[in-house]
Amino acid sequence: MDSKYILETEHVSKSFGSLEVLKDINLKVKKGEVICIIGPSGAGKSTYLRSLNQLEKITSGKIFIKGDLFLHRENDKTVERIAKEKQKELLLEMGMCFQRFNLFPHKTVLENIMIAPIKVKNVDKETARKEALELLKSVGLEEKADEYPNRLSGGQQQRVAIARALAMKPEIMLFDEPTSALDPELVGDVLQVMKDLAKEGMTMLCVTHEMGFAKEVADRVIFMADGVIAEEGTPDEVFNNPQNPRTQNFLKSIL
Ligand code: ADP
Ligand code: MG
Repeated sequence: MDSKYILETEHVSKSFGSLEVLKDINLKVKKGEVICIIGPSGAGKSTYLRSLNQLEKITSGKIFIKGDLFLHRENDKTVERIAKEKQKELLLEMGMCFQRFNLFPHKTVLENIMIAPIKVKNVDKETARKEALELLKSVGLEEKADEYPNRLSGGQQQRVAIARALAMKPEIMLFDEPTSALDPELVGDVLQVMKDLAKEGMTMLCVTHEMGFAKEVADRVIFMADGVIAEEGTPDEVFNNPQNPRTQNFLKSIL
């Protein structure tokens, strides 16, 4: 299907038992758009990203990827079943980076990056190695190819995790607070990798507390609170002229 949006969510809701964590989230993302999601702890930011990636099952709503229906649920039941193969293919369009990088400890940096393309996409070993080395270069860690993850700093490990996600050639990257577990002096290098990615035209959804990054890189900032999108706009609109009192209070609280 043709769509000007690479990712759309319609009326996405998610409950854990009686706790409604996402309430009717509607979002349309254009190819190449960088969206930063901000908001207080418990707002549902992680649950939203995890739902996009099928790490959580939404309770109701629809998710489209590149105009294709990816998921449609009502009252906890999957309504329209799309072909499993198609769904797998669409799932691979999304790469994700978390606060915790979860690299395989007994594999080298290079092996960590090569493993998914080989296992999931049947890429031959030589090609996977070549591409992994190129990715390592792009995140500034070429010389660490044969190291084990525990010999790297947290920031370096996170850059490897980003390279590992990119090795699957996703069209959309989801970041959930990728720098919040890092020592302050290591944050900059990771943000730089994300800035480079944004410049190259990657579509990105970033949950972040790095307001400087959001101001500089985001096309659109979304403020989530209590499971809803309480406000959205350009960085200038949201940071310099927030309309919603909750956004105003949140921004005051983090200054
Ligand atoms: P944020 O990322 O904005 O801090 P989360 O999406 O992690 O928020 O959490 C939103 C709400 O959902 C919180 O109240 C959290 O306790 C709850 N929650 C998250 N995951 C689960 C779960 N697996 N089971 C029950 N409640 C959960
Ligand atoms: Mg979170």
